[in-house]
Amino acid sequence: MPTCLPLVLRRCHVCASGRFRTGGKFRVNAHHKLIDAWLLALCTACGETAKLTVLERTNVRSVRPELLDRLHDNDPGLAAELLQDPIVRSRNRIALDWNGAWRLDTGGSDLLDRVRSLAHPSETESSGKIDVSVHFAARIPVRPVRLIAEGCGLSRAEVERLITAGKLVSAVRLSGKLSGDFTFVLKP
Ligand SMILES: [Zn+2]
Repeated sequence: MPTCLPLVLRRCHVCASGRFRTGGKFRVNAHHKLIDAWLLALCTACGETAKLTVLERTNVRSVRPELLDRLHDNDPGLAAELLQDPIVRSRNRIALDWNGAWRLDTGGSDLLDRVRSLAHPSETESSGKIDVSVHFAARIPVRPVRLIAEGCGLSRAEVERLITAGKLVSAVRLSGKLSGDFTFVLKP
C-alpha cells in the first residue's frame, strides 16, 4: 500500500534534475465554458513548478461535479489516482518513482509463524501448504520476490531457491516486476 505520493520523474527545464515532488495541489483555470486543470509538482532540486495536465480545454459541462470539487479541494487521493492513470502519465510524459513511498502490510505475524512451522514441521504441527494472496492497493511496480521475502521473513536468495526447488509456485511469473494482485503457494 502507498504511504505517500510517489516522486514524479520528468526533466526540469531549469536545473536538469529529473525529480518532482507533488503535495497534491491543483490549479484550475476556467475560461468561459472551458476548463483547464493541472496537478502541481515541485522540482526536488530547484523548486521549479511543473504543471501536469489533468484537464485541457474541457467543456465544464462534461466534467463530473465530484471531480471539480476534488480539484478545488486539492484532494490528495485524487492526485494519487491521477498519477496511477497511464493516460495522465503518457500525456505528461512522466514516470513514477515509488521508492520509499509504499509499505508491505502482512496483517500481523501470522504468515511468519506459518512459514516457520512449514520449515520446521517437527517443532510444531505442520500446516501443510500455505496459500498467500497479495493485494496491491495501488499499481506499484515491485519485484514479487522482494515482497515474498519480506512477508515471509526469508532472504531473497532463499525465495529464489524455493522457486527453483518447486516449493514456491505461482500462476504469475515471479521474476521481474508486478504491479497487480497475485497469489502463490508455499509447499513443505
Ligand atoms: Zn529543477
